[in-house]
Amino acid sequence: MGRLTFANLSTENLLHNVDVIKKKVYPAKVIAMVKANAYGHGIRSVSMRLDGHVDLLGVASIEEALALRKVGVRTPILLIEGVFEPHEFSLASAEGFHITFHSQVQVDWLKKAAPLRPIQAWIKVNTGMGRLGFSPSQVPLIFKELSQSPYRLGPLRIISHLACSEDRDHPLNLAQTRVFKELALPAELSLCASAGILNFPGDYHDYVRPGLLLYGLSPIKGRTGEDWGLKPVMTLRSTLIAINHLNKGDSVGYGARYICPEDMRVGVVAIGYGDGYPFTAQDGAPVLVNQSLCPLIGRVSMDMLTVDLRPCPQAQVGDLVTLWGQGLPLEIVSEYTHNIPYDIITGVQHRVQFLWTKL
Ligand SMILES: *Cc1c(COP(=O)(O)O)cnc(C)c1O
Repeated sequence: MGRLTFANLSTENLLHNVDVIKKKVYPAKVIAMVKANAYGHGIRSVSMRLDGHVDLLGVASIEEALALRKVGVRTPILLIEGVFEPHEFSLASAEGFHITFHSQVQVDWLKKAAPLRPIQAWIKVNTGMGRLGFSPSQVPLIFKELSQSPYRLGPLRIISHLACSEDRDHPLNLAQTRVFKELALPAELSLCASAGILNFPGDYHDYVRPGLLLYGLSPIKGRTGEDWGLKPVMTLRSTLIAINHLNKGDSVGYGARYICPEDMRVGVVAIGYGDGYPFTAQDGAPVLVNQSLCPLIGRVSMDMLTVDLRPCPQAQVGDLVTLWGQGLPLEIVSEYTHNIPYDIITGVQHRVQFLWTKL
């Protein structure tokens, strides 16, 4: 009831994608990245469905990890940025979370926090991303310090992140993969996120960390998830709420960006940037009305957008509109925006009704 703007989410497609990834990377283990509300899909819903199907779940904060424990998710959880405050160690250790260490400050906090239960530790190394992590020359010392720590449980693991893996030929890839291999410490390793999984099959090491691929999307420009055998988990839909018969020369929407080149029917769809549809979408961005491709025309509003109905003469008020997902890859829509699939998919708002197919 109410405004018919919804995200249809497919359990089947999610598990299909996990299967495709697992087969591709075998025998490497899979850390499913569910940070940022599972890339906008709903962190609880996604993680409950992934529970038992992946080796670990990856989150950005202890709040995200605790939310998963609350709904009964039993899969081990990795805090990929570690803790942000020392007191998080006792909670994280009680819950058995795996914890990343990217700075000496965090290592010092561990000593002070002296958690009752030892923790599983991952060391983050900066091989060229220039963001978080110890420099390769610091790693042996940190490795030694954590190895000898009474608060560490089990083997240490080492993690790094590629900066240019979407671009297979970028020279930084070779530099980073080489530095990572040369660490040569007795630890399990993890390097590849989605684009690395697609472009660098020789660098899977012990764990891979897919995010975007899980949701059926491609991180590589010019390709869609379907090209890799994946299926979109989210299909964003709404309905036609009005049809206007406009004359040649009439304008459509804010700023009168679109001027009708002839007498034509223009459809109004109940979705806008206030729902997460990208404001930067240009005229011509593909929208599906029923099964017909009808280009976006005019600026996207907060609650509405407008489409050229000329390709769909039978369209009526109430008809189903697909913004992306099954039948219309988000990767293609994103090419008509100044944005990337990652940002668009994580931006779907709560007022959109989220409807999952069977668990
Ligand atoms: C977000 C993230 C990933 C997942 O990236 P994708 O490109 O979505 O696969 C992997 N590793 C780390 C450290 C991340 O922060």
